[in-house]
Amino acid sequence: MVSQNDLLRDHQKVEMIRIGNLHKRYKKVIALNGLNLDIPAGSFFGLLGPNGAGKTTIVNILTTLTRPDSGRVTVNGFDVVKEPIRAKLEIGVVPQSINLDMELSARENLFIHGLLYGMSQKDIRQEGERMLSFVGLEECADRPVKDFSGGMKRRLMIARALMHSPRVVFLDEPTVGLDVTTRRKLWELLKKINQEGATILLTTHYIEEAEALCDMVGIIDFGKLIALGSPKTLIQRVGPIVVEQMAEDGIRTHFFSNRKEATSFIERLKGSALIREANLEDVFLELTGRRVNQ
Ligand code: ATP
Repeated sequence: MVSQNDLLRDHQKVEMIRIGNLHKRYKKVIALNGLNLDIPAGSFFGLLGPNGAGKTTIVNILTTLTRPDSGRVTVNGFDVVKEPIRAKLEIGVVPQSINLDMELSARENLFIHGLLYGMSQKDIRQEGERMLSFVGLEECADRPVKDFSGGMKRRLMIARALMHSPRVVFLDEPTVGLDVTTRRKLWELLKKINQEGATILLTTHYIEEAEALCDMVGIIDFGKLIALGSPKTLIQRVGPIVVEQMAEDGIRTHFFSNRKEATSFIERLKGSALIREANLEDVFLELTGRRVNQ
């Protein structure tokens, strides 16, 4: 029978992740300062912010690794502080550092994950095979992971995160250190996971990655959300056309709502200037005053 709580949860499913007035302090450092953020089910969400903005702290709280000082966080309606085990079942995590068992094969790594999540041996076998083929590792399923390339290890980490059919997948800088071709292949895989229904939350320092993949982006700075919207909306908000003016003290960036305005601005300028379309990096820089890796 469907309980009142299940009905309530179904009703709330429009928001897969709810973060309300979240605070976290490490001694003198305020990592999160009253963060509010709702992420709709089915989104491909990108969390961006300068170094130290609080992104990892958010992900650690969402994945039940860190306890918040105050505030409320739910994943698919489950409170990560009050119901951490239940909340954990909703989540698949792909951490930044490779934490596979190097001596074991790909298949064995998946098997152990399934056991830890209380899956039956039959389900582990079934899901394990499905996941190995989903990430294209079925041919080398029995090879020890220590022989895998960086890209293969990442794919295996993704397969492992998906083993227990989570509704939300967290990926912390999933393509860091990978070459361009491998990165693009991973993007395709992530898109497929999202198309199959999982909500994705990704942190990345590659702005073009967020622009290519995410339907919604949140920019965090000093532990607060300072911008939220689709990459296109955020670009429209600061101005879709950029003029880069070569000034004596460096490049000055000016935003315009259309090319006509930008061109007439250039005509009035002394010295050289360049006109181009704005991108998410410009939005980031304009809002935070910093480049992504500063
Ligand atoms: P990056 O992009 O560099 O990974 P981030 O946005 O993920 O940064 P967090 O790692 O969440 O930022 O850190 C937010 C702030 O909290 C930073 O000032 C960081 O130094 C501080 N911090 C994080 N974890 C701890 C900890 N365990 N002890 C003390 N300070 C911490």
